[in-house]
Amino acid sequence: MGFTDVVGQELPIKLLQNAIDNERISHAYLFTGKEGVGKEFVAFQFAKAINCKELELDACDECISCRKFNNGNHPDIIKISPDGSSIKIDQIRNLQQQISYKPYESEWKIYIIEEAEKMNLQAANSLLRTLEEPPSYAIIILLAPKEELLLPTITSRCQIVKFRSLTVDEITDKLISEFKLKTQEARKRAVLADGSLDKAITLSKDESFLLRRSQILDKIKDLLNLDLVEVFELVKEILDYKDEINNILKDIEMFYRDLILYKGSKNTDLIVNFDYEEDIIELSKEYTFTELQSVIEYVEEISNLIKNTNVKLQLALEVMLLKIKEKRV
Ligand SMILES: [Zn+2]
Repeated sequence: MGFTDVVGQELPIKLLQNAIDNERISHAYLFTGKEGVGKEFVAFQFAKAINCKELELDACDECISCRKFNNGNHPDIIKISPDGSSIKIDQIRNLQQQISYKPYESEWKIYIIEEAEKMNLQAANSLLRTLEEPPSYAIIILLAPKEELLLPTITSRCQIVKFRSLTVDEITDKLISEFKLKTQEARKRAVLADGSLDKAITLSKDESFLLRRSQILDKIKDLLNLDLVEVFELVKEILDYKDEINNILKDIEMFYRDLILYKGSKNTDLIVNFDYEEDIIELSKEYTFTELQSVIEYVEEISNLIKNTNVKLQLALEVMLLKIKEKRV
């Protein structure tokens, strides 16, 4: 695997390779972009490349440095990820202690902080001190979906490298070449992956995802005709996939997004859930534009509540579906 295996991120890769080539590597980077578009892979590939004993601008995967990394025991490339729901001050204190020791066997010592937006305030303030005066051999790479999710004092000290979402065509091509999927099958997954290659790959390996999606959407499309008992049954079905709740809510949100897009444009090409095209056309007549807008905002609100608070899941879903059904959002 090398930089050439990355889909659609030619610009960030070029920027990083130029930095190596011109010996102008920054001490701090912030890679931004949606989950699953290649930030993490490129960060590790970059770390491998600058420590690689054979190649200049990529990693060879064969030298001692590359092999150590691939075996998960490179002492100078260190990953930090959230401990539970956040990155805590102890993790950053640990980084500060270690970073003061020179690299063991490479020129560079590289820290990659995944989901950096999950640093709590103490951790972020503590990291700031290291970013203000990093050792000459240190590189810190922060990964986050958006720049705005981090403190401006942090982002202003990083070189920002933007990763874009992938197009449906790019993902479709990759799925066809890598997983030998048929065009229609590849396209369906590419569309549902919402710009993320990782998500598309998960969908390609996991048939149950598509089954679950149709089980839920088959009911959602009939929501207006369900009685109270049937709505509560639907909630129970959703709760059977508790771990997937974020994805399910995303599916529901995208379904209503299709309704509003179609209602506004009458263009079926814009429909993401194209296997529900006829239902979407029919259903778009049942809701007003404002109602659909409120539904989408409401589903987003519930998603955030579920992600960030201890809201009662069953109750939240019941209220959500009843409100959508009765257009009371
Ligand atoms: Zn190598």
